[in-house]
Amino acid sequence: MSHTSSLGISAFMAELMAKNPAEPEFHQAVHEVVESLDHFLDENPKYKHARILERIVEPERIIMFRVPWVNDKGEMQVNRGFRIEMNSAIGPYKGGLRFHPTVNLGILKFLAFEQVFKNSLTTLPMGGGKGGSDFDPKGKSDNEVMRFCQSFMTELYRHIGPNTDVPAGDIGVGGREIGFMYGQYKRIVNEFTGVLTGKGLKWGGSLIRPEATGYGNVYFAQEMLKTRGESLKGKTVLVSGSGNVAQFTVEKVNNLGGKVVTLSDSSGYIFDADGIDDEKLKYVMHLKNNKRGRIKEYADKYGCKYVEGERPWTEKADIALPSATQNEINETEAITLVGNGCMCVSEGANMPSTPEAIQIFIEKGILFGPGKAANAGGVAVSGLEMTQNSMRLHWTREEIDQRLQSIMQSIHSTCCQYGTKENGFINYVDGANIGGFVKVADAMMAQGAV
Ligand code: NAP
Repeated sequence: MSHTSSLGISAFMAELMAKNPAEPEFHQAVHEVVESLDHFLDENPKYKHARILERIVEPERIIMFRVPWVNDKGEMQVNRGFRIEMNSAIGPYKGGLRFHPTVNLGILKFLAFEQVFKNSLTTLPMGGGKGGSDFDPKGKSDNEVMRFCQSFMTELYRHIGPNTDVPAGDIGVGGREIGFMYGQYKRIVNEFTGVLTGKGLKWGGSLIRPEATGYGNVYFAQEMLKTRGESLKGKTVLVSGSGNVAQFTVEKVNNLGGKVVTLSDSSGYIFDADGIDDEKLKYVMHLKNNKRGRIKEYADKYGCKYVEGERPWTEKADIALPSATQNEINETEAITLVGNGCMCVSEGANMPSTPEAIQIFIEKGILFGPGKAANAGGVAVSGLEMTQNSMRLHWTREEIDQRLQSIMQSIHSTCCQYGTKENGFINYVDGANIGGFVKVADAMMAQGAV
């Protein structure tokens, strides 16, 4: 790949796009990082001479495989499985598995690329990876999901290990799926090791892991608000999604005195002006995690507004915490949010804001926490789970929560260190990208031609 110093960002991107065609999300994720790094690399030419950027966009290894399984009717099904082992400069590959029909190579490469920077920011020794399948768990029986997970692991097991690559959950992969995959891994290798994180509490899992991404994002938002003498108390909050991240985001916002008025899924969103209190949240958890139902049922039960096929960003609020999926806030929605007085957007999901939306947030000077910093709490607690598994010990809920809070504070400080501009504005996008880059780049340079 070409050198950014001689050809500039557009030539670097043109070559990346030619070499990785039809992967728009990967291009988008790389472009954001390259833009943030441009000036920093000019000031630190050693990274250019070592061609770190050219190397860091190239996955160390990509594994793609067939996943055959048989449904309840006895019919043969086939899906595609992936694992992107992106970068191991500072630790074993680490990152989630996503099971969703939209999964493809480009989406997983974007997620694996972001994961490298995110994991570096956590201060823990973890490289970056991501994987998954275009399998759709929606509407499948527990037995079908089990047969799929067993088939998926029957190939994946040979590529992972507690010191090599440690996957976790992501969209469509929660406690049930991790359990089925862990059981199959253990049968094949005959070893009880910490090869997956997000495990059940009774078999090696960490307390607070299910809560960590949502809680961590709220802790990060709180740190950002503090820089302006604000807090979550009394604030109205929009949350999208209704899965793992969204649910624990609501729990923590309630805990800190805020009021969440929306939740969504891929069919539409609910708006509850009275707020989704702890009692209603319990219902959402049951609806989504046990019944595997749709968010519309919340509106039916509580008699509030449901908007089919739309996202919640036209509702008025002080804070937005997108927690569903990539590119779920576009430019128009960003303009509406800011116009409605939103002062803070913190990303629980990965890359939920389009580049145009981010530009609006930054131009308008609101607090904007990018996913690779704001949602790093999940992988941070996964890192703690790896430590507990290696040391065969168990920390209490309070100890883990305390560590999670201090990691989120440390990520916030790193963003301030690298992202504060001359006028005092903190550009958290630049801060996260540069802060995440430096540690990985220094490790790669020390390790030679890797
Ligand atoms: P989850 O439990 O599977 O929930 C995902 C939620 O997002 C569901 O409500 C889902 O609705 C919605 N959603 C998924 N794809 C969508 C789409 N294309 N359009 C609209 N809505 C969609 O997953 P999760 O773990 O909460 O993950 C949510 C986000 O957080 C993802 O971006 C993930 O990468 C990120 N993240 C997760 C973790 C973690 O620890 N889990 C850590 C860091 C970042 P449906 O049910 O209708 O699909």
